[in-house]
Amino acid sequence: MLCVSLMRKYEDTYRHKGLRKKLIDTLKEKGISDAAVLEAINSIPRHYFLDSAFDEIAYEDRAFPIGDGQTISQPYTVAYQTQLLQVKPNDKILEIGTGSMYQATVLAEMGARVYTIERQKNLYEKTKQFVLRNKYINIKYFYGDGFEGLPTYAPFDKVIITAAAPFVPPKLVEQLKTGGKMVIPVDEGQHQRMLRLTKNEDGTYEEEAFENFSFVPMLSGKNG
Ligand code: SAH
Repeated sequence: MLCVSLMRKYEDTYRHKGLRKKLIDTLKEKGISDAAVLEAINSIPRHYFLDSAFDEIAYEDRAFPIGDGQTISQPYTVAYQTQLLQVKPNDKILEIGTGSMYQATVLAEMGARVYTIERQKNLYEKTKQFVLRNKYINIKYFYGDGFEGLPTYAPFDKVIITAAAPFVPPKLVEQLKTGGKMVIPVDEGQHQRMLRLTKNEDGTYEEEAFENFSFVPMLSGKNG
């Protein structure tokens, strides 16, 4: 029984592919125009990242619970952040908040080298069973506190934060290359303002502000 349901979960049918095409149309209508981002989302079976109970609706443009009070971000949010990041093949990217691994997989599909950190032990442990782990060998998973980043692997071309940051973590700015970009939703009460930072040579950064979003909080320290 278990075997049968597992097989079903990891089947990418024509129906799933059709639903993905529709999702791509929705994302285009909402203003996502980066062809590489749309292509990556079109290539990845999003239903693999959700509990099989959500298989039928995996391609609606909405967020879903993934357990432990966490969510897989809405496809529009993933597309929006990825577009802002201006991903180039071979970019070395640090992601804070692995969650379901979906965002990391989108970046990897675009040819980036991804370093992703999760503070929840059980979510981190799940990455070891990820069915596409052998396909995306360009993703490295870490259990840790995103506020600290990964000094050993720095500097990064890009940093993406997928939880609501109370402020711009200084250590993450430090770990960015000169000219590197960080996409980060920063807390403004109920919602977060999406910011894109570009690091200057002297360690300061330029800031551009975009739309408001709603993320689960970025919490300090590890859990588990
Ligand atoms: N990128 C994820 C989104 C997950 S939601 C996806 O594609 O599914 C945000 C995630 O950030 C949660 O899993 C949460 O546990 C994690 N998180 C929150 N604060 C963190 C921190 N300080 N360091 C690392 N991960 C953190």
